[in-house]
Amino acid sequence: MSGPVTDADAPAAAAVDHDTAEDGLEILDSREAKVGNLQVRRALPRRTHRTVGAWCFADHAGPVSVDAAQRVDIGPHPHMGLQTVTWLVAGELVHRDSLGSEQEIRPGQLNLMTAGQGVAHAEETAGGYEGLFHGIQLWVAQPDETRHGDPAFEHHAELPQLELDGATATVFVGDLGAAVSPARRDTQHVGAELAVRGGRATLPVRRDYEHALIVLDGKVSVDGRMLEPGHLGYLGLDRDEVVIGSADPATVILLGGVPFPEPIFMWWNFVGRSQNEMDAAYAGWQEADNRFGAVHSELARVPAPRPQWSRQP
Ligand code: MN
Repeated sequence: MSGPVTDADAPAAAAVDHDTAEDGLEILDSREAKVGNLQVRRALPRRTHRTVGAWCFADHAGPVSVDAAQRVDIGPHPHMGLQTVTWLVAGELVHRDSLGSEQEIRPGQLNLMTAGQGVAHAEETAGGYEGLFHGIQLWVAQPDETRHGDPAFEHHAELPQLELDGATATVFVGDLGAAVSPARRDTQHVGAELAVRGGRATLPVRRDYEHALIVLDGKVSVDGRMLEPGHLGYLGLDRDEVVIGSADPATVILLGGVPFPEPIFMWWNFVGRSQNEMDAAYAGWQEADNRFGAVHSELARVPAPRPQWSRQP
């Protein structure tokens, strides 16, 4: 369920945007996009907010019914310079990558793949699974210190939880209050799922992080405004807490981090710093060289689109 980024999401390159929310929550509409046969709401990148900390991509998929005929199947495709974070609230997926990993994932678990200089993976509906599929695919931009490094994969079946007044937070990366995720982290950032019970929940957050909320299910109010699926609620820096209100139970993703210090260049499934890096990655995937490796999957390899800057008129 990792989708390619296009110019419709945000230009491939732009200066780092360190805007803080003026006063209170800023709501950005997600863009509808298609990943394989899956309809998604792309909350990041947006033109005015390309990153939240190192979080640079967010596709909210479902809820949708899957069965033998209607599956979530994303064939082998490459990544570089980023980590993929797969988080489900319903359904099951099988991840296969060019490191030889084969890992089923269920709700409440984390699949974290670090691409570094290059990796390839495929994600598909677990054999025989029928029912609802609902989740979010996130990318984390890697810093210069690690982005040319080796690829890696981690699965975390158990993650720490933080009990709040009106919610339970499951911290999949970074820390929130006393809950610290064991997942690899190359920059200062946090990702958590909030199971809001209804009423009021107060999240302890760091002042040096910018934060954003993505509602997966239900509706919540923040700073007097309503947030629902299809929105990115951008909260900016300099908060000690975020207060979430809701009449009914809701599921919300909290993302945060120290504003990414350098401009990134995003194209297709790659994060880098320049067009030349994209050209090299494009050529490597199209020529099926050893850079990204091979994935043992029965699904067809996803071809790269030709970079828009090298298309003939
Ligand atoms: Mn992917």
